[in-house]
Amino acid sequence: MTEQKKLSLEECLNAATETKELLLGRDALEGIPRLLREHYDFTAACIIADENTDAAAGTQVREALSAAGIPLAASLVFPGSPRLHADCRYAARISAHIAALPGYRGLVPIALGAGTVNDLVKRAASELNLPYLCVPTAASVDGYTSYGAALLSEGFKQTFPCAAPRTLAVSTTALREAPAYLSSSGFGDLAGKIIAGTDWIIAEKAGALGAPGTEPIDPLAWNMTQTGLLDTLRLSADAVRKDAEALELLFSALSVTGFAMQRLRSSRPVSGCEHLWSHIWEMEDLSTDGSPVTHGHKVAVGTLAAAAFTEAFFAPVSPPLPSLNWKLPSRAEREAEVRAAFTTPAIPGTGPAEAAVKTALEKLMEEKRAKALAEALRDNWKEIREKVLERLPPYDELRDLIARGGCPVLPGEINLSRGEGIAAARRAQMIRNRYTVLDMAWDLGVFGEVLAKMEEGPCLR
Ligand SMILES: [Zn+2]
Repeated sequence: MTEQKKLSLEECLNAATETKELLLGRDALEGIPRLLREHYDFTAACIIADENTDAAAGTQVREALSAAGIPLAASLVFPGSPRLHADCRYAARISAHIAALPGYRGLVPIALGAGTVNDLVKRAASELNLPYLCVPTAASVDGYTSYGAALLSEGFKQTFPCAAPRTLAVSTTALREAPAYLSSSGFGDLAGKIIAGTDWIIAEKAGALGAPGTEPIDPLAWNMTQTGLLDTLRLSADAVRKDAEALELLFSALSVTGFAMQRLRSSRPVSGCEHLWSHIWEMEDLSTDGSPVTHGHKVAVGTLAAAAFTEAFFAPVSPPLPSLNWKLPSRAEREAEVRAAFTTPAIPGTGPAEAAVKTALEKLMEEKRAKALAEALRDNWKEIREKVLERLPPYDELRDLIARGGCPVLPGEINLSRGEGIAAARRAQMIRNRYTVLDMAWDLGVFGEVLAKMEEGPCLR
């Protein structure tokens, strides 16, 4: 793709299908009554938060509403500790709370919090068919403005379809006061867009050659998420050190990636295999010192693992030859492989293994088609390789940038061994029918070889 002109936040907002306005500034919370009056048909508002996020901005939001004479229904405030989980069960708690309030059809839920609170409210509001308003308290994820909410359901990470907030009020003071690890998490989520871009290039080409789980590149969404991405990362790396400009830039960039998701009703523009790595670790409830590792920190390590995988895969200048002992597994063999990879004890018939078996079998092509695809991928290897390597910064450069943004860069920092960090690639390839470099390596029969190359190499050390 040729580099285009970077679009403004306003221009990107115009591409969004659900979000109508985003207020970003020091006094943004004072604008909430106006947002409500201009964009909602409502009788009252209802705040959903946790104790930490309520302490961060709850008073200002309540004061702004009360000064404007806007009634407030009973708030739902979750405990601040242990940290709230992005699990469907809590979304159900929120919808039950709202539905039990008198005249709930006229309520506007206000999601006051970081990524988890927002995803839970997004899901609950969508179940109740109510448009909601989002008050982010940290530049921690891209999900504030995205279509869909990534939640655990019976232990399996899934993206549920649900509408983005109609409006957002973002206090830059709240972003500055948020714990530094939340800002670095947002940075990690944004760094993942590098791989989202290279995987989209791969998927577009593979899709044209007959691969499943692909989407052609949408030029506008590509421009929104990819143009100037490396520069944006370099300029926002100081968000973790509470630099005001860096934080504002980071929040805007994350919001824009959400608008791109709204436009396409898909997370393809913002999520490639780096997110599959993070989803695997989310299902495993990865934690350090008793606290769950944030989404963005898992994405940061996933981004480096994915970058190393991509580098190792495209290291040869000519297409790889299939390994001598590789053959397409039968459905039964593939199912056994997936079950062996997901050993987490679960209730029989449910849980990650069942969902992964279903997905992996959906992806398993019949032999003739698989062979034709492998041949076509080999024929187009050079072109794909060139386009991908043009976008992918060298591993060391990416690692230094991610470290500068305050993110973990070693598996040990998120409580994993290096071997576990690399091996998660196998499961990552099994959990989603979204074509990435992992699938291209699998379809060419060199998946194991690429992992062996990663093991020997310097990545994640
Ligand atoms: Zn993410």
